[in-house]
Amino acid sequence: AASAAGGSISSRRLTVLSGPSGVGKSTVVAEIRRAHPEVWLSVSVTTRAPRPGEIHGVHYFFADDVEFDRLVDEGELLEWAEFAGNRYGTPRRAVLEHLAAGVPALLEIDLQGARQVRASMPDARLVFLAPPSWEELVRRLVGRGTEAPEVIERRLAAAREELAAEKEFDLTLVNTSVKGVCAELISLLAVHPSDD
Ligand code: 5GP
Repeated sequence: AASAAGGSISSRRLTVLSGPSGVGKSTVVAEIRRAHPEVWLSVSVTTRAPRPGEIHGVHYFFADDVEFDRLVDEGELLEWAEFAGNRYGTPRRAVLEHLAAGVPALLEIDLQGARQVRASMPDARLVFLAPPSWEELVRRLVGRGTEAPEVIERRLAAAREELAAEKEFDLTLVNTSVKGVCAELISLLAVHPSDD
């Protein structure tokens, strides 16, 4: 299918993994990176500082605000969003090159980004990663218990809204086990919506 973002490039082989914050998206992606190096994962650009162990070009491309502005202005991002005070975006060209070559592409992005991909690449498959239960998500968000009550309240309110986004997705995977979710994602990547 043609789209504004992809010209005549089909987005059937594009899979987007998204879901509420705290649900474990990055753990799932870390496991895919470890166990399935054959899967092509988009590397996002971010303005946040690297965490210990994060490698430029592997986990993220780390950029300053000036560079990020340039990427936005020049239309080099397929989607981008602000999250917790930093900006994150998906470089467009690498995604389109992989799709053009028939290579499945996997994006791990937040809900705002998933909505933008839905709008510009309607054939992309959107996968919602859901917590095993609301209680479990609360437990993960409250975490160490070092946050102020109003901060926790704000996070829970955001999580409640994020959970409501599930209906916008093509399918849901419940994160009961990281290995289980990875196996399901891997089999999804091998089969595309309009394959026979
Ligand atoms: P973190 O800072 O923990 O690595 O990521 C914070 C959030 O940003 C996560 O929800 C992650 O999915 C999201 N994220 C990472 N890369 C991108 C991106 O390229 N675009 C969007 N929209 N969100 C992203």
